[in-house]
Amino acid sequence: MMQFSIVTIFPKMFDNIFQYGIINRAIKNKIISINIFNLRNFSTMKRKKVDDKIYGGGPGMLIMFAPLFNAVTEIKKIHKKNSVVIYLSPQGKLLNHKNIQHFLNIKHLIFICGRYQGVDERFIRNQVDEEWSVGNYVLTGGELPAMIFIDTITRLLPGVLNNKNSLLNETFSKNLLDCPHYTRPKKINNMSVPKILLSGNHKKIKQWRLQKSFKNTLTKKPNFINK
Ligand code: SAM
Repeated sequence: MMQFSIVTIFPKMFDNIFQYGIINRAIKNKIISINIFNLRNFSTMKRKKVDDKIYGGGPGMLIMFAPLFNAVTEIKKIHKKNSVVIYLSPQGKLLNHKNIQHFLNIKHLIFICGRYQGVDERFIRNQVDEEWSVGNYVLTGGELPAMIFIDTITRLLPGVLNNKNSLLNETFSKNLLDCPHYTRPKKINNMSVPKILLSGNHKKIKQWRLQKSFKNTLTKKPNFINK
């Protein structure tokens, strides 16, 4: 079983997100487990304070070293497996379809969700194994990135998706985007499903799909083809 631990000051943000669809099924089938830890519970300060002003001045607050350190130490005690601590950060390595594979053999991932101006640099230097980003833009916190990581890693784990082919053919799997798909009804106003898809000729359907994948890639992400 792959285990995810999330350290956040907003644990309630995760109340619903994992209760649906494929992720929920993966939890029920014991392929993954997810534990949410409220960073404030690891603060030893008055009113469970976890942040403070930034040395040298400047706007905003920073999450302090101590509660983060206490949280990681405690979580590592509970989960005896080898753990990898990930700090979610816009400065981290950019997540993509290829480098997700890197996570699939890790037994326990601890995601640290930053807030405010981020976290004390000494925590990153001493306690964080890897820094990862979900995109070249700045979000208000690491909670959405943690959800994205767990979602995308989980769907690649063996036994999670019913049909292995859906992984093989989907966008990014071969440096090609997916082809267009259609479902019922056959006709909507003057828009019909391409005849070939109704022909039952699987060889021709396969060729058509490959052609459309190329066309989609050339139009939407031509740099993939150049690669
Ligand atoms: N001052 C930081 C900087 O410029 O690098 C940004 C802090 S951001 C407002 C607050 C938190 O959101 C970060 O500590 C990080 O955990 C999370 N975050 C923001 N953008 C992110 C991204 N693109 N990928 C992953 N985490 C992100």
